[in-house]
Amino acid sequence: MPTLTTPADMRAWADKARREGLTIGFVPTMGALHAGHLELIRAATAAADVVVVSIFVNPMQFGQDRDFDGYPRPIEADIALCDSLGVSAVYAPTASTVYPPGFQTRVLPGQLAEGMEGAARAGHFGGVTTVLVKLFSVIAPHLAVFGEKDYQQLAVVRQMVRDFDLGIEVVGFPTVRELDGLAISSRNALLTAPQRAAATCLPNALQAAVDVGNRGADSRVTDILSSAREIIDTEPSAALEYIDVFDAATLTPIETLTPVQRSVGAVRIAAAIRIGAIRLIDNRDLFGH
Ligand code: AMP
Repeated sequence: MPTLTTPADMRAWADKARREGLTIGFVPTMGALHAGHLELIRAATAAADVVVVSIFVNPMQFGQDRDFDGYPRPIEADIALCDSLGVSAVYAPTASTVYPPGFQTRVLPGQLAEGMEGAARAGHFGGVTTVLVKLFSVIAPHLAVFGEKDYQQLAVVRQMVRDFDLGIEVVGFPTVRELDGLAISSRNALLTAPQRAAATCLPNALQAAVDVGNRGADSRVTDILSSAREIIDTEPSAALEYIDVFDAATLTPIETLTPVQRSVGAVRIAAAIRIGAIRLIDNRDLFGH
């Protein structure tokens, strides 16, 4: 399995695959691969002839959030894992290859990128969409797989692919969780044992919201949110950054639930918390579709 590190080499590899009539599946990652990434890779393998995994900790999407330097980078283990999973090629460029001196063009996402993660992390989605345009343009995949764990990112990427006529099928994959419900994340490895225990307040809070939401047709968004907030508030080491109930397609906040929204799975809940310096996010379909 080749590991390609420059746009020219990656493009040559992908061009060859396409000339051979092979479909290309793509899984963009920041490395520190875990069971969530592995499922995305499996989904890509099932849907395409060859699979490219990119490993790139994208400085542009971190902004003021200083966990860029501390982000785990076990590149050798990641490459070995990709090889063992039957990945066809890894694309692992350096930051100075992706953003050489003089780089100045950016993709500006729209309204979908404004709330939640976009509000909490200024410039984050602009960094995500900019690097994805670069990755998509070099690899030109037929399909790309993204996790629902980053639900807003998935929505922003789908919109960008539509808006820019990129012709890539965007596949969303359900969140892979630990046994106790915590969404698997590369950042979980940075938690101490007590912090890891405290982190379960996030999935527990979303579960409480789902329970209240499903209790009856008259459940109110304020009650749903306060049931979730209560669980996070009772965990002393966790600080809530935001929690939102929102329309699954437009991502606009929902204040009153309609029967139609309940029945078609058009409502999600998402939250971000901080435990010490570690930021964790999660989201659920509010009505369990
Ligand atoms: P990252 O390396 O964190 O940028 O994630 C790369 C891709 O894996 C993104 O599409 C994420 O949404 C997805 N991903 C990360 N964690 C999970 C998870 N626990 N379940 C499903 N997908 C995930």
